[in-house]
Amino acid sequence: MNEIKNLQANKMASQTTEEEVAIKACTQYKSKNVEKSIEECVGLIGGFKKYIGDAKNILLKPNLLSPSRPELAVTTHPVFVEAMTRLVKRNARPDAVITIADSPGIATLHTEKDLIRLYNQCGYPGFADIENVKLNLDERHFPVSFKQGKLLKKFEVIKPAIDADIIINLPKFKTHSLTKITGAVKNMFGIIYGREKTLLHTKFMDIGKFCDMLLDIYQFKIPVLNIMDGITGLEGEGPGASGKPRNAGIILASSSAIALDNVMASIMGFNSEDIPIILSAKKRNITGWDSNYIKILGGQIKDFIIDDYKLPRNSAVGKISSNRFINAFILPFVRNNLSVSPYQNQEKCTMCRICIEICPEKAIKSRDSVLVFDYKECIRCYCCSEMCPEGAIDLNYSWFGNLIFREKKIK
Ligand code: SF4
Ligand code: SF4
Repeated sequence: MNEIKNLQANKMASQTTEEEVAIKACTQYKSKNVEKSIEECVGLIGGFKKYIGDAKNILLKPNLLSPSRPELAVTTHPVFVEAMTRLVKRNARPDAVITIADSPGIATLHTEKDLIRLYNQCGYPGFADIENVKLNLDERHFPVSFKQGKLLKKFEVIKPAIDADIIINLPKFKTHSLTKITGAVKNMFGIIYGREKTLLHTKFMDIGKFCDMLLDIYQFKIPVLNIMDGITGLEGEGPGASGKPRNAGIILASSSAIALDNVMASIMGFNSEDIPIILSAKKRNITGWDSNYIKILGGQIKDFIIDDYKLPRNSAVGKISSNRFINAFILPFVRNNLSVSPYQNQEKCTMCRICIEICPEKAIKSRDSVLVFDYKECIRCYCCSEMCPEGAIDLNYSWFGNLIFREKKIK
């Protein structure tokens, strides 16, 4: 275990350390193929045993954002997670216990009842019977202190994340309307207990601060390994059902979540220097932010780039709001007039009221079957879009934003 801890401590070293990201093509969720592809991918960066070591309590942390069918590509695919449990079992000590856990997005409570509903909807129950593998039903969560945190020094963490000797992070290849991408670093937001996530959205409204907060959570318990399900990704207005599934046909693996996100962003067609989480990592000099110090294994990155991957509409606004002066003085204007805003898609909306309940600013009301948004109160966190099970929140520019961005290629 000391060896693993040292490995993680080295991630804080200055950016002269080269990180490795392995990429492997895999186009379908066929159980044996996925298992073989993951094994080969991790093999390129040293193999499972190097990372698992002698760990007894192993947490697999998929992206289980919301109760969502696997084909919608909102959550880490069950075939991917099942393949991972087999691989980890084969490479871990015989008495190792593997727990699969996540605290879903704010519309799903962290209760046994809601977790069962989540697993059922996401197609996870099939592998719960494997010996020493368990789907977490423990509702407990505890406050933790993290004095090294830059912005976040105390937070509530779910029990399996506290108990784990090591975490293997299993993010999904997805765009995000607020942070542009939601990959390996942001996936660790799910170790935070349920609705505390809403409060953190309100507390850290500025995108730079929000990403700094995400880095604090990531550094509280750095995963030893990050393996990304990019077989089918999500493009457009992710990370929820407002995004669209898109075959990306890849699996990525790295011991550095930052490097993995950096490579994922490049494959999607972003300039990784425009990604807020990468910028935050750069400011802290956490390895992986600099593409020049990332070694790609398994091919050349240009062979994997998807030219027409659809990026979130808000991508163009980020170029403006990353400017410090504008962040400080113009942000309210930017937020209200240039950022995309949520609108109800009445054809899809079932009036389930989830968005009304989870909105951290209470900026949504209902009048008959119409949702009324208070755009002065709305902080553009896009939790409503993220949590809407029907993909019924459209994110569109105001007339002024349209004027500015309509001709602009969002890259
Ligand atoms: S927009 Fe979505 S979350 Fe909101 S009420 Fe309609 S279906 Fe429910
Ligand atoms: S209306 Fe939607 S985007 Fe606006 S604050 Fe509420 S949840 Fe966030």
